[in-house]
Amino acid sequence: MNTDPQRRSELRRIIRNTLANNWPSLVALSHAIHDDPELAYHEYHAAEQLTRILSSAGFHTDMGVYGLPTACEAVFGNGELTATLCAEYDALPGIGHACGHNIIATAAAGAALALAPVAEAADLRIKVLGTPAEEHGGGKADLLRAGAWEDSSFSLMVHPMGAPDVSADAVKYTAVKRYSVTYYGVASHAAAAPELATNASAAATIALTAMALLRQQLPKTSNINAIVVDGGDVTNIIPGKNELGLEIRAQDLDELADVTRRTLACFEAGAIATGCTWEHHLAENPYAPVANDPLLVTMWDKNLTDTGRQISGGIESSGGSTDMGNVTQVLPALHGVIAIEGCSASPHQEAFREAAASKEGERTAFDAALALAWTALDAALDPAVRSELLLRQAQRPAGATTLETI
Ligand SMILES: [Zn+2]
Ligand SMILES: [Zn+2]
Repeated sequence: MNTDPQRRSELRRIIRNTLANNWPSLVALSHAIHDDPELAYHEYHAAEQLTRILSSAGFHTDMGVYGLPTACEAVFGNGELTATLCAEYDALPGIGHACGHNIIATAAAGAALALAPVAEAADLRIKVLGTPAEEHGGGKADLLRAGAWEDSSFSLMVHPMGAPDVSADAVKYTAVKRYSVTYYGVASHAAAAPELATNASAAATIALTAMALLRQQLPKTSNINAIVVDGGDVTNIIPGKNELGLEIRAQDLDELADVTRRTLACFEAGAIATGCTWEHHLAENPYAPVANDPLLVTMWDKNLTDTGRQISGGIESSGGSTDMGNVTQVLPALHGVIAIEGCSASPHQEAFREAAASKEGERTAFDAALALAWTALDAALDPAVRSELLLRQAQRPAGATTLETI
């Protein structure tokens, strides 16, 4: 493989030109997804549109892969090194594409299209995974279990954010576990026979109070929150059942395990004090914290700058959580971020939804696709990075990416 600087510049130019030539259909893809917000595990149209655009560019595509009806896959080339680009496309209830996942899908599709003509020269295999249910559910955890990254040397994605541009390491994504908790007692008339009741709402009250007191002793990097989902029907019946939703966030897996144990003890206290029985189960797939690969961060930050953007250094801001965290725990991977110019809103706000469909949103998707494609190319052409990634893939035991890390 020819990796001299002149050849590399030529391949980077081919990538930019291919992206520019395909840009009208990619913008159409972005708007089609944005205009038709589909919720977690129901992203049929988005997956179809993504599959269509890649299929018409010569990718081998499949819908409904790895056991998820709205997951899709598109593969091009047969190089030794496999770059897996993640395309999220789910929206939020009520507020639509206020997380800008239309930009994520467009960036992944654009990067893949742009890489196709250089795949052979770079000895690269390109794989796009359409990953459902990032906002709730954790489609990437389902896909990991089903082996979707088993063939991957590394994996990349990028998420839009409000301005300014920051390093891929500047935004911290925490681990999160979400539980459903239910207390079971005995219902009774609230005035005529309260002594016959075992009060499930009292158990919930004790749990929430204990949890509120626990917060003072928790690490500042953690966060716990609970809501009452079902607290009874009428005031003259003491509830025999109470259901809560609980979420626990922490900066790393050790902290998460510790905070989870202490928080669940508060819920056990509610049961002990009232005589209720209780049960709890995970309400959805847990998300691990994002651990971006340092090699990929360096290349991503440089390529983001090469698109003409400026990275503000040193900003440490707190993100939410993402199921891409689970991917970063099991193979070299990157969850980059890119700013929508002039946008001061945060994801999950209405103004961010508007920005995701604006001209600036389109420019963001272009730069995001370009930086993703250039990063994949750098990984393929840099002899040290390439051999490191291939070595790590070779040393990974079969099935290693399918194991639960959280
Ligand atoms: Zn979101
Ligand atoms: Zn998002």
